[in-house]
Amino acid sequence: MPAAVAVTAERPRTSAPATLGVRELLAQGRQTFSFEFFPPKTDAGERTLWAAIRRIEPLAPSFVSVTYGAGGSSRDRTVEVTKRIAAETTLRPVAHLTAVGHSITELRHIIGQYADAGIRDVLALRGDPPGDPKGEWTAHPEGLHHAHELVSLIRRLGDFTVGVAAFPERHPRSPSWSQDIHHFAAKCRAGADYAITQMFFHAEDYLRLRDRLASVGCLTPVIPEIMPATDFRQIRRFAELSDARFPDALARRLEAAQDDPAEGHRIGVAYATAMSERLLAEGAPGLHYITLNKSTATLEIHQNLNVSPNPATTITE
Ligand code: FAD
Repeated sequence: MPAAVAVTAERPRTSAPATLGVRELLAQGRQTFSFEFFPPKTDAGERTLWAAIRRIEPLAPSFVSVTYGAGGSSRDRTVEVTKRIAAETTLRPVAHLTAVGHSITELRHIIGQYADAGIRDVLALRGDPPGDPKGEWTAHPEGLHHAHELVSLIRRLGDFTVGVAAFPERHPRSPSWSQDIHHFAAKCRAGADYAITQMFFHAEDYLRLRDRLASVGCLTPVIPEIMPATDFRQIRRFAELSDARFPDALARRLEAAQDDPAEGHRIGVAYATAMSERLLAEGAPGLHYITLNKSTATLEIHQNLNVSPNPATTITE
């Protein structure tokens, strides 16, 4: 288990280079700045995604991640998009992978495809029951039951850097904090190098999770995931799906700005910037931004934080 290294706010904010793996960056105590995309369903969605990727590329983020779909063709698109990022950009892609509906043989095949494409970073997740994310979880008869088994499988298959999920407000299906922390620690013992959190809107929830993990000796770096809350309806839906507590005052301000998208955007960017500043000041090892395949809000937050692109990987053309 890699030791967590406290990062002070005084450290110059240079996006740690994508030429190093996430494991190496975190072990060196370098702050990571990273972005999450999802596989688009349509040609128009594909164009939007690639426009966002090209706008984010000059920032030289530490990595970008691509979520894994609930089933069928969206999963193939995850693999395609991840491979294309590796082949056609300077970015380091992290492939999300879930155990949902897959036999171990299928999981091995997907991991093998990533290895063949030179992709060495995987975010290992159990996933949610298809159809009803809050429904009862049933493993594939020849598959895996929990994320720690997927971490072990990926570790056995090659020299991958493996991330896992963490939940600042506790996993919604966990009956107690102690069980949640116990199961998280099992993922770290299985070989997870770092974790990325579920979205959250109260910095204190992240800090309490970190304290809980430290109290059981689990020092695996946990990167906060930030969702810029710029659109009232959209954020309410996301918060409901993820069970994230949404601040009342922010909800009221966004609701009042429902007919003024520019004002909603300003409110959301300002809130996410302030929370990012607080988390970095508290020693968070990095920040991971949900982009929803758009770049504007995340680029503005990144600019507000004054993170210089890494000179070694900056694109000058
Ligand atoms: P686990 O670690 O297996 O935990 C799931 C539940 O089981 C928890 O309640 C845990 O306490 C419990 N548990 C764990 N081990 C045991 C055990 N041995 N015995 C009993 N109970 C146990 N979903 C997608 O479909 N695609 C994505 O791309 C995706 N990306 C994500 C990215 C991030 C950063 C996060 C935070 C979540 C993401 N998810 C994604 C959602 C995720 O798959 C779900 O939240 C899922 O419910 C939990 O996954 P996990 O990997 O934490 O599972």
